[in-house]
Amino acid sequence: MTASAGSAALPIRPELAGFEPYGAPQIDVPVVLNVNENPYPPSETVVAAIAAAAAQAARGLNRYPERDALGLRTDLAAYLTGDTGVPLAAEQVWAANGSNEVMLHLLQAFGGPGRTALSFAPTYSMYPEYARDTSTAWVAGRRADDFTLDPAAAVALITQHQPSVVLLASPNNPTGTALPLEVVEAVYQASPGIVVVDEAYGEFRRAGVLSAVQLLAGRPRLAVSRTMSKAFAMAGGRVGYLAADPALVDALRIVRLPYHLSSITQAVARAALAHAPELLARVAELRTTRDQLAVDLAHRGHQVAESDANFVLFGRFADRHAVWQGLLDRGVLIREVGPDGWLRVSVGTPAETAAFGDALAEVTAGGRP
Ligand code: PMP
Repeated sequence: MTASAGSAALPIRPELAGFEPYGAPQIDVPVVLNVNENPYPPSETVVAAIAAAAAQAARGLNRYPERDALGLRTDLAAYLTGDTGVPLAAEQVWAANGSNEVMLHLLQAFGGPGRTALSFAPTYSMYPEYARDTSTAWVAGRRADDFTLDPAAAVALITQHQPSVVLLASPNNPTGTALPLEVVEAVYQASPGIVVVDEAYGEFRRAGVLSAVQLLAGRPRLAVSRTMSKAFAMAGGRVGYLAADPALVDALRIVRLPYHLSSITQAVARAALAHAPELLARVAELRTTRDQLAVDLAHRGHQVAESDANFVLFGRFADRHAVWQGLLDRGVLIREVGPDGWLRVSVGTPAETAAFGDALAEVTAGGRP
């Protein structure tokens, strides 16, 4: 149910008039591969640990939560140090309700009226919404045809627009493309403001692809954002975080609401982090399934974007909606997103991925729609 944002009776900000709330359809079908979730729920051991942590937090629910979430930030710093080899302390880490909220904090602190945020399309469709919601001007450059980013073109656009915030998704959604660190460095050099590398899918990167966390030292305007929603299989927990210079983190503390992370969220996230190896155990398998899926799609004659994430963008279809609908009719939900003619499928369990492949073969039998 959505109220019409364009209702004449409400004094809504004109730039919000007529908009629908963002979100993919939540449809109850057997194979759900549309929002890049991890297909594996936590084990009963992890469920028990999370439940015990939530119960302990419940005993103190008459009190407000720890406002700066320092315990959680300490645990996140330790995890990120383990993932990247870069030593990080709690003061260099910020946490919020999903990396969506982390990004909103960044725009609230560094964007705003008279300022510009810039990214390169096709990319995550929430970025222009963060800009809109914070009255920040929005500029979208283009990625190359293979979805990579040409550093010279990126630098030229940044020089022209002087953005306060540059958002770089790596691996990019919906294309799966990871950025070489040289490109991030070039963008940082050219940027007058904050450069955010959104590594929501960072743990799925292929061997040899480096995290932009490697670039943090000596770059006080760089922020690298991550999430527990994907590799950690904790999309329902709503915990995202970033690593940056302590002064940048302090700026985000100005705009956060008091007690923005509930005691339950903090406790659940810390319990999950204590079981990180178990929760992350399926990442290697998901990467293998992703690579195999890309090969299979190419063998069937589809164009496939190289992916360092837990999804694959493939095409191209004269009528992608017909393909999306045909799959849905067979109980497989994927995402109609990205440049015209392309579709995005999340990596599921081997059985889900096989069901997707079978359904796609049926839909495309006798010629591609
Ligand atoms: N960044 C990118 C590139 C994403 O694809 C997503 C989720 N789809 C997010 C950020 C936000 O994820 P969350 O709020 O669950 O951390």
